[in-house]
Amino acid sequence: MNLFIPARAGKRKSRNEHTKNTARVISLPKAECYKHLMSPSRITIADLPPVRGRYTENAPLGALGWFRAGGTADILFKPADKEDLADFLAACPTEIPVTTLGVLSNVIVRDGGVRGVVIRMGRDFAGLSAQSEDGLIHVGAATLDANVARFCAQEGLSGLSFLSGIPGTIGGALRMNAGAYGSEIKDILVHAHALDRAGRTLSFTPEEMGLSYRHSSVPEDVIFTGAALRATPGADPTALEAEIDAVRARRESSQPIREKTGGSTFANPMPDECAAADLPEGTKAWQIIDRAGGRGLRIGDAVMSEKHCNFMINAGAARGSDLEALGEEIRQRVRETFGVILRWEIRRIGQTDPAP
Ligand SMILES: Cc1cc2nc3c(=O)[nH]c(=O)nc-3n(C[C@H](O)[C@H](O)[C@H](O)COP(=O)(O)OP(=O)(O)OC[C@H]3O[C@@H](n4cnc5c(N)ncnc54)[C@H](O)[C@@H]3O)c2cc1C
Repeated sequence: MNLFIPARAGKRKSRNEHTKNTARVISLPKAECYKHLMSPSRITIADLPPVRGRYTENAPLGALGWFRAGGTADILFKPADKEDLADFLAACPTEIPVTTLGVLSNVIVRDGGVRGVVIRMGRDFAGLSAQSEDGLIHVGAATLDANVARFCAQEGLSGLSFLSGIPGTIGGALRMNAGAYGSEIKDILVHAHALDRAGRTLSFTPEEMGLSYRHSSVPEDVIFTGAALRATPGADPTALEAEIDAVRARRESSQPIREKTGGSTFANPMPDECAAADLPEGTKAWQIIDRAGGRGLRIGDAVMSEKHCNFMINAGAARGSDLEALGEEIRQRVRETFGVILRWEIRRIGQTDPAP
């Protein structure tokens, strides 16, 4: 079996200087390979191909997220443009883990940080344009959902106001099939553009993405770069602005949107799970969390919100481990009380322990 050995730190003379990748592959007995996978070691810039964008080593990833908790990324990579990203993916050894993130509004970063490369797309991926006459909207993966909603309102394009209350990017929305108030990405998506781990261009229809409630079947290593969305032209911009204001007001009154949070912690139970637990169809996760004593439950500075008890908040200096432990405590209480196993909607990424 082969093992990838990244080039070591110390070969680099300055932060952004790209040295020749001196990584090598050696053969090892099977057990040794698994040992490496169980405790992945840190990647440095010297292990990576030259790029036109920016690498940041040991980047404080948790601090970038909505929860403001958790560890660092070995490398944070901000590609200059799509070509730079594709070239990076083609040249980056496959053994180096690559994670793509948006604005981390749905993520708990574990305290030990994320090994490998974390990709965050910048301005070059935040495009937004429309063909107002046929309602087709072209968006980059880094475009904020709320900006798409506001833009559509100005252009008199209806059907996308629900996006105004979702604080993530289009990339995150495609991965999560984000939705609110009865609408979801699946309903407005024409096709999504992406790159695979080898840097090849892909395109998906909603059917090919296997989109369902807060789920997509697209392989985890596929990186969305943009999408074409469908709206209905000919609407009154003032009425659409009012729709957006109503979405905002509704959220403000029912969700702790000004806190350090990650939105709904758990997905709502599916109809068959409700039936098996003798709960009415359509029972929401917050209702069973509430009845299981979860509202206001606290571990360290991680708290289940009093305002909306499926929202977890960092009420001070919570660690990633506090947030995750609180979520697991809630799951256990709900399982014991109702026999329902709640599914995490929030993604948890990284290692619990620091890299060796
Ligand atoms: C106050 C609040 C309210 C919220 N309300 C809602 C709501 O009403 N409805 C709803 O659906 N969600 C809601 N959320 C959750 C969250 O905003 C959505 O899931 C959003 O789509 C995540 O986008 P993001 O850019 O923050 O993604 P991140 O949180 O950064 O990442 C989420 C997942 O998407 C993947 N991902 C991100 N970008 C890409 C990309 N370009 N290519 C491939 N994978 C990618 C990540 O790897 C990760 O697995 C809420 C969150 C908060 C904090």
